[in-house]
Amino acid sequence: MSRSQQLYQQACQTIPGGVNSPVRAFNGVGGTPVFIERADGAYLYDVDGNDYVDYVGSWGPMIMGHNHPAIRQAVVDAVQQGLSYGAPTAAEVTMAETIQSIMPAMEKVRMVNSGTEATMSAIRLARGYTGRNKLLKFEGCYHGHSDSLLVKAGSGMLTMGEPTSPGVPADLAKHTVTVSFNNIDEVKAVFAECGEDIAAIIVEPVAGNMNCIPPVDGFLQGLRDICDQFGSVLIFDEVMTGFRVALGGAQALYGVTPDLTTLGKIIGGGMPVGAFGGKAAIMDHIAPTGPVYQAGTLSGNPVAMAAGLATLTLIQPAEIHQTIAEKAEYLMAGFSSAAKEAGISLATVTVGGMFGYFFTEAEQVTSFEQATQCDVERFKKFFHLMLNEGVYLAPSAYEAGFVSYAHSQQDLDKTIAAAAKAFATLAA
Ligand code: PLP
Repeated sequence: MSRSQQLYQQACQTIPGGVNSPVRAFNGVGGTPVFIERADGAYLYDVDGNDYVDYVGSWGPMIMGHNHPAIRQAVVDAVQQGLSYGAPTAAEVTMAETIQSIMPAMEKVRMVNSGTEATMSAIRLARGYTGRNKLLKFEGCYHGHSDSLLVKAGSGMLTMGEPTSPGVPADLAKHTVTVSFNNIDEVKAVFAECGEDIAAIIVEPVAGNMNCIPPVDGFLQGLRDICDQFGSVLIFDEVMTGFRVALGGAQALYGVTPDLTTLGKIIGGGMPVGAFGGKAAIMDHIAPTGPVYQAGTLSGNPVAMAAGLATLTLIQPAEIHQTIAEKAEYLMAGFSSAAKEAGISLATVTVGGMFGYFFTEAEQVTSFEQATQCDVERFKKFFHLMLNEGVYLAPSAYEAGFVSYAHSQQDLDKTIAAAAKAFATLAA
């Protein structure tokens, strides 16, 4: 038995499912998870002495690669001053100003500790600000695990939402309406029915939790127009896309300005951080200036701010995102031609440093329905073949992949060669 397998068995005794976040358990691909000892640049090193080219990047934060010396040094310097004060610091001001300079729509910013907290707080704020209860979200978009967001569509488009998890009260879920991503007609139909009651639309502007699905032309602008018409708050959940698909996030890439934005992942450089922000007129409704309550013992933590600020400093030169986008394109072009060569149907997509690949006959995947129709069994086999070749891909067919600045040409070529071998095995 490998050390990873031993640790997994041991972990299952005291940690539910052996993991502290479900996707890590490999339920989506079968087998047992690899336990990681350390990481550096584009590589993960496991407890059995194996190394892997990593395309998960801690689910997004590691845009500069793992254990970047400048980020590590910033953390060490911050730690030497103290770990947490529960009182304001200069670093929080710098962080808010830095975010605002990169994303000007974030006129005011509140730091939190995770993406879940960011979206949960943004929704409460939107409800408090508008005095409305209903929320519109999209099937297949993930916004963290707060109650209002663990909801799926009821049996008809306009019926009340149903909880996707036990423990979420149906009374709360009924306020969430779920419609199809990239389908502006469904959004219009819901607003025609109950638009005056809708506090907010929340959307991943590029969906990264049902593989990787970019918005179709006009979709995001359509959401902006409907929110303007009905006085609803448009929330872009850029926890994944922020500083990733472009420095200024999806809002910069597609030129559509939300009222509120939620951030996480990259903004913490690997530390537990989230943020939400947007129009000052809305943000001023948050305590202590306004009546909508929101707080956090460790929010704006100095060590986390140091890691986040060091990361945001490193990624500001234009060359960074251009290079990362080129690497992602190169990787997916490599997958595409290797699959073709082997006679495997594969659709690929990239948006900046995010990528997706679908085992499907379709040329392009634009909806949740299409994403769920892909060949998941083939994906599972592919995942394990790649892992055996030393490539760590997301252990789920429904997650986007991430390329970092640290991935070298050699790493990308090694990955493409592994994929070619895996496709040939799948085709045999
Ligand atoms: N929003 C999006 C778009 C995400 O991808 C995630 C996490 O993957 C979240 C919110 C939740 O963030 P966290 O896991 O930090 O709570």
